[in-house]
Amino acid sequence: MKKKVLVISLLLLVISVGNVFAAGLGNIQNWYTNSSEIGRWGTTPKVWYGTLDSSMTQLTLDGHVTHARSQWNNAGVPNSYTSDFNSSHIRVRSGTYNSIKKIEVGIQTGDTGLTKRSPATEFSESYWYYQGKYPKSGKKIGGPVYVYLVTGNRTAAAYKNTTTHELGHALGYFGHSSNSKTVMYGAATEITTLTSNDKVHLNQIQ
Ligand SMILES: [Zn+2]
Repeated sequence: MKKKVLVISLLLLVISVGNVFAAGLGNIQNWYTNSSEIGRWGTTPKVWYGTLDSSMTQLTLDGHVTHARSQWNNAGVPNSYTSDFNSSHIRVRSGTYNSIKKIEVGIQTGDTGLTKRSPATEFSESYWYYQGKYPKSGKKIGGPVYVYLVTGNRTAAAYKNTTTHELGHALGYFGHSSNSKTVMYGAATEITTLTSNDKVHLNQIQ
């Protein structure tokens, strides 16, 4: 009896390992980042957001996060909202540089936003092959991931650009695009709508 259970559990292990590789292996056609890594979530990540201080109202933050979430959802990179911090996967906070610095020492002067992934909650999944040649490392993100939006004298479009950009990092877009017209470009702009490059890079492995 005991032996039979062991055989079954070994079989389950083989099946699940097989699935992981089957889901990860593939040929991808688009690569718009300076990173050789790309990430995805094993489950639809739930996004929570809140303000660290009064430098941005909850209502304004709500507008920026809702914009960013719908941009990626419409691009085929799913994410949902939750009001429950503890069960959330992506935690977005707005605040002044000083407020953020108190809880995230990695923030630098001049940053408009920062996404803090935890390598401990990511594991290497397998490789995708860009145009059949160059292996790109796939990572499955477990979370939680922390996103910070730095407040200052910025336009609504600039905040939406930063929020959409940082959420992209949290959803698995590692590194930056070299195209200044894209949201995932490495510098802040006022572009608030994802371009086809932004979309196809991340949604091709969803
Ligand atoms: Zn970035």
